Amino acid sequence: MIEIPGFIDLHTHTRYPDNDKFPFIDIDDSAINGGFSTILAMPNSEIPIDSIKNLRIAQEIDKKLKTKVHRVGSLTKNLEGKELVNYKEFVENGITIFSDDGKSLIDDHLADEAFKQISKLGGAVFQHCEKSCHSKPGDIAPPNSNSDLIPINNDEELEVLERDLSLSQKYGTRYHAQHLSTFESVELIKKAKQEGLPVTAEVTPHHILLNNENLDTNNGLFKMYPPLRTEKDREGLVDGLQSEIIDVIATDHAPHKAETKNVPFKDANRGVVGLESAFPLIYSSNIFDIDQMLKFLVINPTKILTELGYEIPKTVNTWKKSKSVFITKSIFKNSLFENENIEIERVLSGV
Ligand SMILES: [Zn+2]
Repeated sequence: MIEIPGFIDLHTHTRYPDNDKFPFIDIDDSAINGGFSTILAMPNSEIPIDSIKNLRIAQEIDKKLKTKVHRVGSLTKNLEGKELVNYKEFVENGITIFSDDGKSLIDDHLADEAFKQISKLGGAVFQHCEKSCHSKPGDIAPPNSNSDLIPINNDEELEVLERDLSLSQKYGTRYHAQHLSTFESVELIKKAKQEGLPVTAEVTPHHILLNNENLDTNNGLFKMYPPLRTEKDREGLVDGLQSEIIDVIATDHAPHKAETKNVPFKDANRGVVGLESAFPLIYSSNIFDIDQMLKFLVINPTKILTELGYEIPKTVNTWKKSKSVFITKSIFKNSLFENENIEIERVLSGV
């Protein structure tokens, strides 16, 4: 048995508040099963977190979970990229992180204004970088032989990231790049850090463990944003973590009902679940040692959140080294790692 501090996920889609379509208890169970004690909830729920009224609705449910749930306000109303939300009101209510995750804030004029206002308020912009998100969202990374699918080139991410880094420089805005997927992005973050910008970045477990070689383009399970990319990109992201240019591993946990994933790639919803599989799969890959994993899953996300005023409870979980296969316990089975070999298992007390 080994005792390991509870992990902090900077990127969870709780789905609620959503008028009770997804059971909130499933998020709690997934976090507990995966050893996560704190999660940062993205605002793109059916009831979007773009007003204090909606924030309160979400927080009433958050209180029912054993997992500590922290909230992010959206950058724009209904995450449509057209009208900024009232950031001051959110900051006064303890919410200092803003993101339109699932979409980017594309409009340059609005982005300039958002970075300026959020900097003045001491908040942070967390950005999902996707240039065509509001116009013509893509399906899959190149190379891809399925001509029905729209390619998502590396530039989709890089153009937004570059624009944002220049805004962070202009206003001194605290900036966090979400789920980076290209090797070039790591270079941009490296340069920004060398220039002293207040910038951090995350990658997902699936982008450091998998590439797009032999990807089944008929299986909607593999549809996500950002897409799985080439081996060169995967290696770049791993190197980014090894050299501490990338700060955090975050899951982008995105539960979807089977009927929206067991469909052709083109028609599938984007996203995979990740809370339960993150640590056992990363641990079993032997890419990082335990101290590195704790840096990416505990120390760095704690630092990022506490510096922005969020409190992190200190918890410890018990794990057991044993060879088995990973099985998702959540009712949402859109995991990329089902039946993969693992070398460590969570020990749940009282279950
Ligand atoms: Zn995203």
